[in-house]
Amino acid sequence: MRVVSLGSGSSGNALLVEAGPQGRTKLLLDAGLSTRTLATRLASVGISLSQIQAILITHEHSDHVLALPQLINRYAFPVVANSKTLRAIQDGLRSGVWRTDAGRTVAAKIQVEESVSYIPVSAGKEVEVTTTSLEASSTIVELDHPESGDTLERATPQAQLTFPHQILPIGAHLTIGDIEVTSFAISHDATAPCGYLLHAGGCRICLVTDSGEVTPAMLEQMQHADLLILESNHDRERLVRGPYPWHLKRRILSPTGHLSNDQAGEAILQIWREVGMRWLWLAHLSRTNNTPALALESMRLYLRSANINPAHIRISALPPTMGQVWDSTQLWL
Ligand SMILES: [Zn+2]
Ligand SMILES: [Zn+2]
Repeated sequence: MRVVSLGSGSSGNALLVEAGPQGRTKLLLDAGLSTRTLATRLASVGISLSQIQAILITHEHSDHVLALPQLINRYAFPVVANSKTLRAIQDGLRSGVWRTDAGRTVAAKIQVEESVSYIPVSAGKEVEVTTTSLEASSTIVELDHPESGDTLERATPQAQLTFPHQILPIGAHLTIGDIEVTSFAISHDATAPCGYLLHAGGCRICLVTDSGEVTPAMLEQMQHADLLILESNHDRERLVRGPYPWHLKRRILSPTGHLSNDQAGEAILQIWREVGMRWLWLAHLSRTNNTPALALESMRLYLRSANINPAHIRISALPPTMGQVWDSTQLWL
């Protein structure tokens, strides 16, 4: 199994995972970079987009799906996600409007040179964004309590999904080539966000980013990982004292926001076993409210506080650009 971080953070997230003989199964986890950047970074590790078999999506925020409109147009590989996230992607494809991790909306702009970039169209609050999105859809139906706006949900029948897809309900398993995928719920202000545990050849990797809290169900999946890719978004103090507007700070700190360095450290102590995880990638670091050095030092402090030998775990902080490469053969060395 080989894992390559192609980008991590609010400027765009994507991971390449390869498994099987000669790495014959190739998946992307999220595609939050421009198509050109994604292609260039994949090429630097000898892979072309045409070799990808499927793209797993954690949630529909633009830093996780930026390349999807173009990829869907050009390639036949399925988008794998739960049905609610697939419907949110369908709405984004139809309207050209996506939400960012900071709660703004952006519109897709297909440029002449065929790279996708996004332009801000609103600085509105989350609630306004959601309302606009609902009103823009022509397929609103009433659910349990027709009088309550909170219970309205867009009904896009599966038949209306106009792109190749594979539904993977949260909590379910799916085998894609040589890789078994398990999806599990995380806590974030997207439609139905999830993390993934990937299993191949006796190795497991687990991806948990964009979550405001760590739940027992998440810990249950994380504890199986040989390589854990865990969000360490911000230093709490730095965020609170920093330049962000208060509504954004409150959102990031909320149970559906992003994990702090402290939350990441506490989570690791809860799942630590002497024979367990050996590699930890700290991911989705904020450029404003964190630094790689801060995130790494915070995690090491937590490990020291529990008398965990730092030689037993290799920790890296993922950069927003091309990042770490992990090969499961390291497990046997
Ligand atoms: Zn994100
Ligand atoms: Zn997000």
